[in-house]
Amino acid sequence: MTVAYADDLKLFVNGSWRTGEGRDEQPVVNPATGKAMAELPLATEADLQEALAASQKGFDHWRTVDVNERAAILHKVADLLRERTEHIATLLTLEQGKPIGEARGEVVSSAAMFDYFAEEAKRAYGRVLVRPSGQRVMVIKQPVGPVASFTPWNFPVYLMSKKLAAALAAGCSVIAKPPEETPACTSAVMQCVIDGGVPANVAQLVYGVPDMVSRTLIASPTIRKVSFTGSVPVGKHLMRLCADGVKRMTMELGGHAPVLIFDDCDFEKTMDMVVPQKFRNAGQVCVSPTRFYVQASIYDRFVEGFTARMKGYPVGNGMDAATKMGPLANPRRPSAIGALVQDAVAKGATLKGGGEAYGEGFFFQPTLLTDVPLNADIMSQEPFGPVAVTRPFETLDEVLEQANRLPFGLAAYAFTTNLHTANAVGDGLDTGMVGINSFTVSTHDAPFGGVKESGFGSEGGPEGLDGYFVTKAIHQA
Ligand code: NAD
Repeated sequence: MTVAYADDLKLFVNGSWRTGEGRDEQPVVNPATGKAMAELPLATEADLQEALAASQKGFDHWRTVDVNERAAILHKVADLLRERTEHIATLLTLEQGKPIGEARGEVVSSAAMFDYFAEEAKRAYGRVLVRPSGQRVMVIKQPVGPVASFTPWNFPVYLMSKKLAAALAAGCSVIAKPPEETPACTSAVMQCVIDGGVPANVAQLVYGVPDMVSRTLIASPTIRKVSFTGSVPVGKHLMRLCADGVKRMTMELGGHAPVLIFDDCDFEKTMDMVVPQKFRNAGQVCVSPTRFYVQASIYDRFVEGFTARMKGYPVGNGMDAATKMGPLANPRRPSAIGALVQDAVAKGATLKGGGEAYGEGFFFQPTLLTDVPLNADIMSQEPFGPVAVTRPFETLDEVLEQANRLPFGLAAYAFTTNLHTANAVGDGLDTGMVGINSFTVSTHDAPFGGVKESGFGSEGGPEGLDGYFVTKAIHQA
């Protein structure tokens, strides 16, 4: 069934919106119903070559535009995103499933990204070294060049906006390939970018077969920077493609966030935060709290408190105002998560509630697994779903070792009122972000990024802008 929202399913290449016109198509499915809503046109090789040529032209122009003018345009984009929040949030919930309140929050946070980078670009200073001889060395920053950005379906509006805002602020042109699962909400973002005044060939939008699109764009000498958010295996694949052309990269890959809960934490306050955070966006969050290591003296209390809060958790269609957790985003997720739960139980974990996929859409019950053995797959594979796993611990050293045992290093959290413990976990957790008595680790003005196999490069903060510059040293006698 085609619904009115399908009017938005188009590519934006070289200044024009492109619909089907003989292109291959793929259905876009509402995850709350499992039903197709519309067909998405997929970019052809010719579309991509045209986009590449336009992107070079766009860059040659945009890099010369005064930073104050670029900033004014990006502020206008932010204003339009805020004005169109209801429209974009509705598309996002229909396509991705998250509760409409979370979708609204995602659009507003995206607007904040455009506002932030509009101003931060004005502070992208270089420096001058003055030699006794009078010689000067000027270190200047220049935009890296046309960018290819690849973003996933869990926060399609925010993650695309994050990359667009920083790259455009720095003076780069961008070919964005958001996920094929959620194309209408990301097209609506691109419409704000165009209506805000970003020239047509400076920002372009393609959907397609991901491997074909990324191979074609990355192989082109036009593209100088690749920014990817997604899974570790796809990130590694794109890094290999980038090696041939020695392209700059930002890689925001997966995580497996540990949560260290010490017996001196503010217990009830901690529990009230833990459960909604675990089930936010149905656990499909790269910084989602996953491995709950709980100090042995409060372990039983933790399991009891989590189970009680999880019971009757309002799961449903994201368009329903009462819903706190929607369906998973696509049919791959329920089966993948179900397999991880079964494996854990088979290896000795206790299922305290949930564990089942259900309904016509892609729903999965909020789930708690306790005493999960270390050899269970879920202790080392990112569940990316509404499943919490718990294990007791005794000492700080022991829990730090457990927390750092995986090859991932994106986010970690700790709950304690002891200053010494807070400092020790802040220093000792091997991740790009640490939340202490807080789950907020993603803001427009602070760096967001991982270490180890969770990737490299930061988004947000001055570091996020820096990723779209190259530095040049001009030695002048
Ligand atoms: P996937 O590995 O197939 O895809 C992950 C993302 O990469 C998707 O957005 C996809 O469109 C894109 N992609 C896939 N192949 C690509 C290619 N060759 N070139 C460019 N882009 C490509 O997995 P999936 O089934 O979509 O998601 C499963 C796993 O991905 C999750 O379990 C999670 O670990 C990870 N994931 C991470 C994030 C994140 O925010 N870091 C977001 C979404 C998915």
